[in-house]
Amino acid sequence: MKNRKLLMIPGPIEVDPSVLRAIGEVTTSHVAPNFIECFGNSIELMRKIWQAPYGQPFIIAGSGTLAMDMAVCNLIEPEENALVISTGYFGERYKNILTTYGAKVTVLQAEIGEIVPLEEVEKELSSKDYKLVTITHVDTSTGVLNDPQPIAEIAQKYNTLTILDGVCATAGEISKQEEWGIDVVLTGSQKAIGVPPGLALFVVSEKAMNVWKNRKNPVQNYYGSFTNWLPIMKAYEERKPSYFGTPPVNLIRALEVSLNLINNEGIENRIATHLVYAKAFRKAIQKIGLELVPKKEDEAANTMSAIYYPEGIDGNQFIKGISEYGVILAGGLHSEIKTKYFRVGHMGAITKSDIVVTLSAIEFALAKQKYKLTIGESIGTFLENL
Ligand SMILES: *Cc1c(COP(=O)(O)O)cnc(C)c1O
Repeated sequence: MKNRKLLMIPGPIEVDPSVLRAIGEVTTSHVAPNFIECFGNSIELMRKIWQAPYGQPFIIAGSGTLAMDMAVCNLIEPEENALVISTGYFGERYKNILTTYGAKVTVLQAEIGEIVPLEEVEKELSSKDYKLVTITHVDTSTGVLNDPQPIAEIAQKYNTLTILDGVCATAGEISKQEEWGIDVVLTGSQKAIGVPPGLALFVVSEKAMNVWKNRKNPVQNYYGSFTNWLPIMKAYEERKPSYFGTPPVNLIRALEVSLNLINNEGIENRIATHLVYAKAFRKAIQKIGLELVPKKEDEAANTMSAIYYPEGIDGNQFIKGISEYGVILAGGLHSEIKTKYFRVGHMGAITKSDIVVTLSAIEFALAKQKYKLTIGESIGTFLENL
């Protein structure tokens, strides 16, 4: 019996075997020439994948939340206004981070399964002087997809910086940092980037780097300050040794391998595959009578799905049934509907067969609880829609 389960949650995700093997390579010095090359190369690859040719990439040991934290602590100053466009759990987290650094925070809260209407965003941004606005690209608690482009356009009109939380989106959803004029696009290694957890990854625009340089007050965070990390990123890119805090050498080697996989496939192709799989997966799920948390098809994420349990299905038993079948899915996260839905990650280097197995696990777990369905129906629908 294989002692492994198919990991289909919204991060961590299934990792390509070559990425895993890279982690197992001998640990080298953080100033060894081969590691300096690997770090420098990873920085250059990030610019391509983020589509941010003039941005400043950062690779820092930590989770996605550290990337959220660093984006804010370096850009906001006490008493400045910040707007959070919230589509769920991670909007709430951004409010908490901003409050920690003394910002005056306004939250525009979407209804569960919906986005905040653009008119509301414009009305709020035009009402006072906002330093920055945060957008969650895909809120992992609802599976709702925001279109960052029109929001960034409005923000530019009012001279407000934009921070895009792409933790469940970057490398899986369409995102053009330079073209759209987004100031920070951030993620964590364990989501669509396809590396095990442990790296905070983000790219900062030239404009935002200048805002940071011209701060009136010092950054209220030691480890996360650009003052400490910018010289390190620059040094590695120039292929020179440097030190502030020891980088996780094995993980960064794995990052280089995964970024190369994405780049060789082509970021556009990688994203297009996510779109096709996600659409077919949603059709398959709906075919067997399940409902999605996102209320509109074009506001549903392509990296993951949030799905309501049908009437009479017990969530704990369902997740147990899935696990018995050899698959791992996630329960609910949004506090208001936590026990009413489950979540499936379908991002990164996953294959059609991973999705077919996931659908069969879902049918198996539903059938165990006497849910009426024709076995194989969701799989057929998935295949027909590829
Ligand atoms: C997972 C996630 C985070 C948090 O990332 P961690 O690595 O768990 O700190 C933040 N935002 C979004 C949208 C996420 O999906």
